[in-house]
Parts: sequence; structure tokens; C-alpha cells
Amino acid sequence: MMEKTARAAEPATERGLQRCIDPACGATYGLRERIYVCSRCGGTLEIDLGLAALRDSGAMRKLWAARAASRDPRNVSGVWRYRELLPFNEPVPFVTLFEGNTPLYHGPRSAQYCGLDDLRLKHQGCNPTGSFKDTGMTAAVTQAVVLGARTVICASTGNTSASLAAYAGRAGLQAAVLLPKGQITAGKLAQSLDYGALVCEIDGNFDDCMRLIQELGDDPSIYVANSINPFRIEGQKTVAFEMMEQCLWQVPDHVVVPGGNMVNSTALAKGFQELLDLGLISHVPKLSVIQAEGSAPVARLFASLDPREWANGERLPDTMAPVEKPRTLATAIKIGAPVSWKKGLRAVLRSGGKVIAVSEQEIADAKAMIGRDGIGCEPASAATVAGMKKLVAVGHIRRDDSVIGVLTGHMLKDPDYVSHYHRGTLSIDSSAKDGSVTPQRIAGAFRNAPESVAATKAAILESLKRRR
Ligand SMILES: *Cc1c(COP(=O)(O)O)cnc(C)c1O
Repeated sequence: MMEKTARAAEPATERGLQRCIDPACGATYGLRERIYVCSRCGGTLEIDLGLAALRDSGAMRKLWAARAASRDPRNVSGVWRYRELLPFNEPVPFVTLFEGNTPLYHGPRSAQYCGLDDLRLKHQGCNPTGSFKDTGMTAAVTQAVVLGARTVICASTGNTSASLAAYAGRAGLQAAVLLPKGQITAGKLAQSLDYGALVCEIDGNFDDCMRLIQELGDDPSIYVANSINPFRIEGQKTVAFEMMEQCLWQVPDHVVVPGGNMVNSTALAKGFQELLDLGLISHVPKLSVIQAEGSAPVARLFASLDPREWANGERLPDTMAPVEKPRTLATAIKIGAPVSWKKGLRAVLRSGGKVIAVSEQEIADAKAMIGRDGIGCEPASAATVAGMKKLVAVGHIRRDDSVIGVLTGHMLKDPDYVSHYHRGTLSIDSSAKDGSVTPQRIAGAFRNAPESVAATKAAILESLKRRR
């Protein structure tokens, strides 16, 4: 009965199309065309579901809520539960690991640290492979199955490859991940190996891997799942829907995310915009993106824009100077030339948010503070809380605003970092003008180093007393 209400709202024809985001081009393509960029102008593609014609009076909200109590695998997934807003035609050969359904926690210690009355943290690290990439990969690998691809590939050193490997394993597809030799963390590499992907260690840098990906993408048996893939954004946007359900449809004042390739921020903004188009929310939250200082091309560009001239994101700068040698221990956001900077920046400007950068020290201390709330995230995720503290300090976020930070990955993705921080041995290489490299120590303001304690009850009680 509930199902029928929603079906009535669906367009009878193909659900959406792919469109070039460059307004001067605007070329459109069908959903089943195997393309990754606009074949007319080389621009980025975006999926348009034509929702303006689909005003919803609340039936969809009820339908989604009812599905939360269902055991049907499509409803158990926190992505496919929102399938009215996904670009797939029934029957969908969906590939799922029951992604999404991630917790929204209160973080009282983190809130106090930022100077906020309250702060909520949406932990996307609680996805099946430990990062938000899963919400996009379920859609991209499903699209690979729709298109009849036999092999899926990507060129990522981290969470994207782990996620692609897992979903390919799930679908029984072959996966290959291309990575520059010696530049992947042990945990993330281990995941790709365990999920059975062909891990190609390339003697070269990321750009070499990307060039190879482009060449391989011409082969009709291969589907490319890099972040440029518009189907990944479709899956990732569902975090906005889930967040609004968890907020009982009360729009928060601010949502803050870390920014690497700026795909996550783009996806979140698309999700909010679609809810607005459907009339399910009255306005969108201010979206702010936080980058690491040594890898902050978008924050640098943002700081150079005159707000009076660029507000609303109707016009965008044509170019962005990349960072030649990005530098940060937050490897998931160590990106010098973000693929989706234009879409991400447009989303931030339209919402009235900001793009700022934070230091390695600020990221490290924010991470430890999130930990004190009992929440473990990877360094890139902690940039959000570090950024909020700054945005409160400059008055962009007010003490009593409602604020949600997105934690993008799980702590166990990078336990070495955590251990070094608490033992006081965390450092990052710093290169001087003369080319010499020296390690720069990062102090642990909230250090919690292990103690050697005698094997007696008295000694342990004594240690506890000292720390009380
Ligand atoms: C991919 C990733 C990011 C960066 O997201 P973008 O969409 O590239 O901006 C941040 N944190 C983690 C843990 C990630 O895996």
C-alpha cells in the first residue's frame, strides 16, 4: 500500500539523465550511456532526476520511515531505502553491503572544545568498509552491473580502493586498483587485498595512474569508478536524506565536512537541494568545507574571493591553482588538484558557508577530543571539528547554532597516527627551501600515553588516583 503511493509519484519513463554541468554546453546523455565526462566538451557530468515536477506532500517521508522497519534487503540498506531518488530503473540489480544507517552522535566534549552548546557528529566511518565511500560505491558498482561490465577499476590509494574492492567482491566482478608504489597505508591496502582486488603497484605517481585509468576506460568490458563517476555522487547524496530523518526534519544551521576531491561536499549539497526541490525542507543548511593547510587549494581560492561578487555561486572562477606537492598526515584529504572543486565550491557559495584550512596540530588535537567523546575517526575526519572551532572563533558559527559535523572514516584506518600522537612521536616531514627535509614534531595536547605499572592492585589504584 505504501509502495503504491510512491510508485504513483515516479515518472513513467527513464528515471533521469546525465547532463554536462557546464551551462555553456549542457549536453545530455541517457542513464545507460557508459561515459564519465561530457563527450562534447570534456566537462563533468551530473545526474538530473527532474524532481521539480515531482513535488511531494509527505508520502515519500512516510514511505522511507516505514521501510526502516522492513527486512527487505533494499530497505535495510541506508542508500537503497531512498531509491525513489536514485537514477535506476526497476528491477535494479543492486549490489549492497547494507551501507548507510550510520549513527548521529552528540559530542559534548567536542562541542565544548569548539565553543558550542551542542554538536552532533554523523559517523560515516561506520559504513561496511569504514568510510563514506561505500554509500557511493554501492551505486557505482550497481551501475557497472547494469551496463554489463566485467571489470571495475579505480586509481585511489585509500578508502576508494578498499570500498571498490569490497563491492566488486560482493557483485562477483573483477576489480583492479591502480596505486603508486609505496604510497598506501597498511590498513587500506590490506582491505583491497582481502577483498580480492588486483592491486597494481605502478612505478609512477598518481597522475600516471589516472592517465592509465583513462586509457583503460575505453575498453567496453571495464567500468571506471573514480570520483568523477556521477553515480557515486548519487549514492553519497543519501547521507543528506538520512541526516534529515535523524534530525526529525529540523534543518541544522550548519553542516561541516572535510574536503579532498570535494565530492562528498558536492553530494551532500545535491541531496539537500533535492529535498528542497521536493518541498521536504524549507531551506538548506550552510555547508562549510575544511581542508588541511598543506593541501588547501580550494580554501586558498575561497579566501581570495570577494563575497559581494561571488555570493550565491551563480558565477564561478574559471581556474584554481593546484597545490604541487600536497602535504598532510590526513592522507584522505591529501589532494592538490581536487576533481570536483567547481561543483563543491558552487555548493558552499550557494549555501552561504565557507572553505577554510586548519593546521596539522589542530587536526591532531581535534581528533583526540573526538576520541574523548568515545568516537574514533581517521585524521581527515577530525578536520571538521578543528574547522568548527575556528568558524566559531570568527563568528561564522554562533554558540547556540545547531551544527552537524560529518566524520568520513574510521579510526582503525590509520592506527599508527593515533599511537604516535598519544606517545608524543607524531611528526610530518617539512622541506626547507634548500631541499633538506626535517621532521616537524606535532605535540599531543591531549596525550594519553601508556604507563608502565607494577603488577599490584595498589599500583593500579595509585595510577587511577593520579589521573582522576
Ligand atoms: C575520500 C575521503 C575524504 C575526502 O572526500 P572528498 O569527497 O574527496 O572531498 C575525506 N575523508 C575520508 C576518510 C575519505 O575517505
